[in-house]
Amino acid sequence: MENLLNIGAEALRKAALNEEAKDFLLNNDVLFKILKKAANRYIGGETLEETVWKVITENINGFKCSIEFMGENVKTEPEASEATTEFVNICQSIISQNLNSTISLDLSHIGLGISRDLGLQNLLTVCEAASGGNIEVIISAEGTEQTDHILETYMQASKKYNNLAVTLQAYLYRTQDDFEDIIKEKGRIRIVKGAFETAAGLSIPRGEMLDEIYLGYIDKLMSANHKCSVATHDDKIQQEVKKLIGLHNPEKNSYEFESLYGIQTSQLTALKNEGYPTKMYFVYGREWYLYLCNRIAEYPLNLFQAVADIVAKN
Ligand SMILES: Cc1cc2nc3c(=O)[nH]c(=O)nc-3n(C[C@H](O)[C@H](O)[C@H](O)COP(=O)(O)OP(=O)(O)OC[C@H]3O[C@@H](n4cnc5c(N)ncnc54)[C@H](O)[C@@H]3O)c2cc1C
Repeated sequence: MENLLNIGAEALRKAALNEEAKDFLLNNDVLFKILKKAANRYIGGETLEETVWKVITENINGFKCSIEFMGENVKTEPEASEATTEFVNICQSIISQNLNSTISLDLSHIGLGISRDLGLQNLLTVCEAASGGNIEVIISAEGTEQTDHILETYMQASKKYNNLAVTLQAYLYRTQDDFEDIIKEKGRIRIVKGAFETAAGLSIPRGEMLDEIYLGYIDKLMSANHKCSVATHDDKIQQEVKKLIGLHNPEKNSYEFESLYGIQTSQLTALKNEGYPTKMYFVYGREWYLYLCNRIAEYPLNLFQAVADIVAKN
């Protein structure tokens, strides 16, 4: 059974990366509507306006939020500039609607893959818009071919803006060295396990060793009272981090538990009810197809949820 689920999830992961399949889906009204029903559980919506409503609701429920306009690896300057403008719009919405929210972005979405300079300039534009509302901008981690450029861009931009944060992937062996450099900056460090496939020998597979390494980073961050985000849906890790909080007693505004919207929300709610700072991460846009496939591929049981969502009346 588990094997079958994994085969289904793997097929979806491949389908997600297939440009022809994606074009077909985006241009086929019926298929688009069907799969969108499954995606709705994980996304803020297709537009910023829809997402803002959900953020308002979750703020009222006591969660801080983060908003990302979905996309990555843009190939042209106008696309990078369009995405940058959208991130500036997010900042303006957060300020005008007084939302308790940060923003998250992929640097390849705002042009880093086209040129280092373009990625940096566009990031500075977003940071400037965000600094007006004291909004934190969190840079996501991407595939390993981008890691050097992402971290260098973070280091450069964080000299100018102190509202910048960065994501490190615990599964990469190289993170042990990167961590020592990045912790010298004041910005928040979000620790994730890591989502991308890597070449052999670059990453540690899911399991006890990775969990220990993950907790090791959080331990170091909390003992230094360095701003951090515990970005995982892993209940075991969340429970261990609670012990680290008890041990190091970091300032409450220095750490947060962060989960993707629609995933293991009951765990995040329990943490919130226990008084821990918690954050919900919203993505929005029309690029939800790849996002949906990834959420199912990383937890194949979600296939059943997707089917249930598709056949549900509303
Ligand atoms: C806020 C946030 C930001 C992220 N940013 C990045 C990034 O910038 N770069 C990057 O590479 N990765 C990012 N990720 C993804 C991350 O790397 C992992 O792939 C993802 O969080 C799944 O790993 P896990 O830590 O939850 O643990 P896993 O070991 O994968 O899962 C542990 C348990 O969590 C639960 N779980 C995990 N995934 C799901 C799911 N989809 N549905 C239901 N339950 C699930 C299950 O109970 C599972 O047994 C981010 C994750 C979060 C939460």
